[in-house]
Amino acid sequence: MAQIKLENIVKRFGDVVAVKDFNLVIEDKEFIVFLGPSGCGKTTTLRMIAGLEHPEEGDILIDGNRVNDLSPADRDIAFVFQFYALYPHLRVFDNIAFPLKAVKVPKPDIDERVKKVADILQITDILDRKPSVLSGGEMQRVALGRAMVRQPKVYLLDEPMANLDAKLRIDTRAEIKRLQHEIGATTIFVTHDQIEAMSLADRIAVMHQGVLQQVGTPHEIYNKPKSLFVAGFMGMPTMNLIDAEVTINQGQTVLQLSHTDVQLDLTTRQQSHLNINSNENRYVFGVRPEHIKVSKEPIAGKIKTDVHLIEPLGPVNIIDLILGTDMETQELILLRVRTHPTFQVQIGDTIWLDFDEGQMHLFDRKTEQAIW
Ligand code: ATP
Repeated sequence: MAQIKLENIVKRFGDVVAVKDFNLVIEDKEFIVFLGPSGCGKTTTLRMIAGLEHPEEGDILIDGNRVNDLSPADRDIAFVFQFYALYPHLRVFDNIAFPLKAVKVPKPDIDERVKKVADILQITDILDRKPSVLSGGEMQRVALGRAMVRQPKVYLLDEPMANLDAKLRIDTRAEIKRLQHEIGATTIFVTHDQIEAMSLADRIAVMHQGVLQQVGTPHEIYNKPKSLFVAGFMGMPTMNLIDAEVTINQGQTVLQLSHTDVQLDLTTRQQSHLNINSNENRYVFGVRPEHIKVSKEPIAGKIKTDVHLIEPLGPVNIIDLILGTDMETQELILLRVRTHPTFQVQIGDTIWLDFDEGQMHLFDRKTEQAIW
């Protein structure tokens, strides 16, 4: 049983505030992923939980006990770093068995547990080799095996699959998920790869510039982003984000997408957060590429656009459509749409589009927070 509580954690390195007022409760047996771009403070947060860095402010509690002053060895945590550190003079088998030998687990049990993780990680055939003759991917798997063979309260995994090739990464991802479910240990996994985060996590904690932006299930993070940052970070391609303003037109409240003829009727929408009478009614409209319907036939009342670019990706096509032009900068206002590959169009074709009602997002440009 291991619940981890981070309360008002702050960590600075000189002038750099690596982690700002971080609050999070990670429940027992939960698989949580810290996700964010390079330098956002993921590793520093993980290292503080491990006891390898010390918070300047705030408390870290494991099962209700404050562990700020406990050494890493006394926290019952297994840690896999982005950069593996194997014992060069030991065979792979002994590297994996090392933590078990250290606590004097009987030899037959060691043999069984090492063979089990070696089997999962597909390294049974290299158990007799020394690290110096292993590839980067093999070394990474040995490092993972050394953590998996223990049964600690908490696993901390910092980009543990960074050195694996694409196929092995997907296989290992599935194995890590299955194993975590089987063992039931609280796990914190750090990555900047949103697909990895979505596929592994019970909950994702999105970080940006040391600040925790949003915590939620993969579904919540993807479908209900609370900020412009989260909306723009998740998804491939990411959400279309277009400047907009709110105007009153013939008695109707409309959202006007800047530099385009596109207007959306807001009359039936909740308007209490809209600052209609202000001069600064700047918003950002968001819609994901898969939440846009397209048609080659004219549809009355729908938005008419021209095709700018087509990227056939196999299972889907990504099409860039021209919504308008910023006359000042001559920059095109483009909208990316995901379509079925059978939807065949050419550059320059005219097509009609419509946004999925209920899948549109609006953000306040100034606060960057979601309105809907
Ligand atoms: P990455 O994905 O690249 O590992 P990250 O999100 O894990 O990035 P951190 O390694 O936690 O980010 O770094 C957060 C910030 O703190 C960065 O600006 C980094 O340069 C800084 N930082 C981290 N460790 C130190 C250190 N020991 N000394 C000085 N600055 C540091």
